[in-house]
Amino acid sequence: MAAAETAKHTYVYDFAEGNKDLKDLLGGKGANLAEMTNLGLPVPPGFTITTEACQAYLATGEQPAGLAEQIDTHLAALEATRGKRLGDPADPLLVSVRSGAKFSMPGMMETVLNVGLNDESVAGLSAQAGGNDRFAWDSYRRLIQMFGKTVCEVPGEEFEHALDEAKRAKGTGNDLDLDADDLRALVGTYKKIFSKHTGREFPQDPREQLDLAIRAVFDSWNADRAVLYRRQERIPADLGTAVNVVAMVFGNLGSDSGTGVAFTRDPATGAQGIYGDYLANAQGEDVVAGIRNTVPLQELERIDKRSYDELLRIMATLEGHYRDLCDIEFTIERGKLWMLQTRVGKRTAAAAFIIAAQLVDEGIIDLDEALHRVTGAQLAQLMFPRFDLGGAPEVLAKGVGASPGAAVGKAVFDSQRAVELAKQGEPVILVRRETNPDDLPGMIAAQGILTSRGGKTSHAAVVARGMGKTCVCGADSLEVDVRGGQFTVGGHTVREGDMISVDGTTGCVYRDKVQVQPSAVVRYFEGDVTPETTEDPLVAAVHRIMSHADAARRLRVRTNADTGPDAARARRFGAEGIGLCRTEHMFLGDRRELVERLILARTDEERQAALAALLPLQRADFVEIFREMDGLPVTVRLIDPPLHEFLPPLEELAVNVAVAQARGEDAAKDEALLAAVRRMHEQNPMLGLRGVRLGLVIPGLFAMQVRAIAEAAAERARDGGDPRPEIMVPLVGAVQELETVRAEAEKIIAEVRREQSVEILIGTMIEVPRAALTAGQIAEAAQFFSFGTNDLTQMGWGFSRDDVEGAFFWRYLELGIFGISPFESIDREGVGRLVRIAVDEGRAARPGLKVGVCGEHGGDPESVHFFHEVGLDYVSCSPFRVPVARLEAGRAAVESAGSDSR
Ligand code: ADP
Ligand code: MG
Ligand code: MG
Repeated sequence: MAAAETAKHTYVYDFAEGNKDLKDLLGGKGANLAEMTNLGLPVPPGFTITTEACQAYLATGEQPAGLAEQIDTHLAALEATRGKRLGDPADPLLVSVRSGAKFSMPGMMETVLNVGLNDESVAGLSAQAGGNDRFAWDSYRRLIQMFGKTVCEVPGEEFEHALDEAKRAKGTGNDLDLDADDLRALVGTYKKIFSKHTGREFPQDPREQLDLAIRAVFDSWNADRAVLYRRQERIPADLGTAVNVVAMVFGNLGSDSGTGVAFTRDPATGAQGIYGDYLANAQGEDVVAGIRNTVPLQELERIDKRSYDELLRIMATLEGHYRDLCDIEFTIERGKLWMLQTRVGKRTAAAAFIIAAQLVDEGIIDLDEALHRVTGAQLAQLMFPRFDLGGAPEVLAKGVGASPGAAVGKAVFDSQRAVELAKQGEPVILVRRETNPDDLPGMIAAQGILTSRGGKTSHAAVVARGMGKTCVCGADSLEVDVRGGQFTVGGHTVREGDMISVDGTTGCVYRDKVQVQPSAVVRYFEGDVTPETTEDPLVAAVHRIMSHADAARRLRVRTNADTGPDAARARRFGAEGIGLCRTEHMFLGDRRELVERLILARTDEERQAALAALLPLQRADFVEIFREMDGLPVTVRLIDPPLHEFLPPLEELAVNVAVAQARGEDAAKDEALLAAVRRMHEQNPMLGLRGVRLGLVIPGLFAMQVRAIAEAAAERARDGGDPRPEIMVPLVGAVQELETVRAEAEKIIAEVRREQSVEILIGTMIEVPRAALTAGQIAEAAQFFSFGTNDLTQMGWGFSRDDVEGAFFWRYLELGIFGISPFESIDREGVGRLVRIAVDEGRAARPGLKVGVCGEHGGDPESVHFFHEVGLDYVSCSPFRVPVARLEAGRAAVESAGSDSR
């Protein structure tokens, strides 16, 4: 019964039965071949074996019941259409067997052409081609080569070597100079190579060739390189690949035949036109293999005008149909054009914006669709400075672009040395085989990081992304000799101190210093260029799409900034206020002295005196920030970190005291500080005396800050400004904490307000799990919530970011416990659930409660979509991420509107 049911399952689809939306089942290649077939374009007939068949095969090691029969049926139909039988000695049907997963994937088996040829049918093929022996033997040697290499794992070099040998014997470098006899001899050599490596003869049975090729495609899903690639790109491991069996068409039939690739627009710049390459008298893979020189596609107009015109018509049809840039593979067989592949083409970040804007201009898509087609990640890429490649700098190696940016510095091979040189003001690039937690200081000191091992989830990659530092990893052509302080690559040696340049976007490593160019997109956001003052189509496209994102989005975007200049910059980047103004830095620098006095105060008077000295300094800071953000909300967080962070480190003090005592000098102040540091030592500072707890324990501390805020606001208002301060209390876990702080704060605000009336909101961060779970109570006392998702993640998971990111995240990513670091992108199910609960219960208790997020997640594309979904009012992120957040907030709004109406 079960067997009968599986037998009915459809595992094979004719091209005429599929369409482009069936990529899950038919893979990208199969779905698009079907789509082109149904558009009436000239696609050679064929069929697709589904990803489900592959999944079933991989699960059991055997082809699922019914598959063999379905292949028989479809093959018979294909034979009938072509009027030929597979491998028929007199007139053979030949097919290609092509892998095609939902996502294209390097490392998987690619394609075998000319399946169906053997010692007999090679003669039939020649006869059918009008006695073209050369063509027939050329096709046969290709089959043995591709079949041997991809199906039977015969080392490809051996075939290439034999081919080179044949050309050398003939005194030529060109495949085309080999005649039929040469190729027949080469087939003999190839067969020997085949049997030497496989222990069997090259299979002569056409159907066996076909079945082995299909099976090899299935198996290649689990090839090492494919597995590695999927892990890095976070492609699920269980999708499987489809297999396409396509009737062969021949580009190697003579000078009136050929093969080519084309783009409907320039994938690098988005410019419209004909972009592609053509190679006469060749089979598919020759174009990309670079064996012979291709000609620009425009030349085809001269070579075969009819086919060229038809190709242009088809390209227009495809663009109109897919409403996007397409890339295409085609073959011309004796003046007849055949389409072999199309897909929506990959493109650079700049081209993505330009093409989307162009398609809007051409009326092909609307602005919502344009917005949907670009991403925050692409925009972020465009905001990094880039290398000026005009001087064609020498590429030393290429690795994985793990964390974007353009970094230049002296190569350094150990962490300590990196720190030393950086202290002397030297830019350095830390080069390692791989990094581990011991390298952290060097990674912090370096401009960029380069490793020869590991991929996007290696320690180096994870930590560099966390720090926003440029990183290239897995540049495996580098021989890194850490002890010897050098690396070698392709005969070059780079020693410690030699300049190198690394591009974390492309993964390229250059010799020497490469000039860095500022980003045109940043200059646009800065207001240095406008679409009116530049010809750059990228600026116009970004302007257009950003304007639409701003109009579409519901989320406001604020910034995290604690200084006037940062605030001003963020405002130029489109920030609509400050979501997090930290006050910690206002206690650093020459103010440390005052903070030390505050901490060491033994009496109320001493403490009050220290606070009174800090007050005007804080007030001046706030005045400047309120001025830059005039008319926009500014959320000021009261002091958050444990106070001992403002004191010198224990070891340093201990040494100072010991030295002073040995010399008989007076060390009273250092002794007092040392005692304070010892007294304030905490086992777990992250979970210690910080945030609201400080405010409740140290009399007058929060009061001073509140007064500084209120007085600064009053001063701005007096000067005609429009300050909109919001006071935010950190680390609240219980409503009582907030109530206590709020009562004191309101008293102070009321005092100041007697002179000048400025409305000041008082709210809280939600960053302790208990706060999220009691948000209904807390909302009674809070005029707004702001999620501190960094702490909420730390406390939700029970680990501290500084300790864990370098210690074990790479392992968790490798094991798939994390798809992505929960500090990079919000953990929707866990931490996100806390956010949902707090939003719902907070708003239920206080309708209209203003809710935002001020953790770094506010600038992460995925997380922005989540915050849109849960209905936050705003996200807040670093100034540089503001445009990314604006774009993604727009995309989230457009996409959710789209899915509502669907
Ligand atoms: P890839 O995914 O590596 O591009 P393809 O399956 O597209 O692999 O095939 C490799 C090359 O062989 C391409 O140039 C393609 O156009 C060509 N090719 C595939 N099938 C056929 C066919 N039936 N007739 C002629 N050429 C083909
Ligand atoms: Mg292809
Ligand atoms: Mg916090």
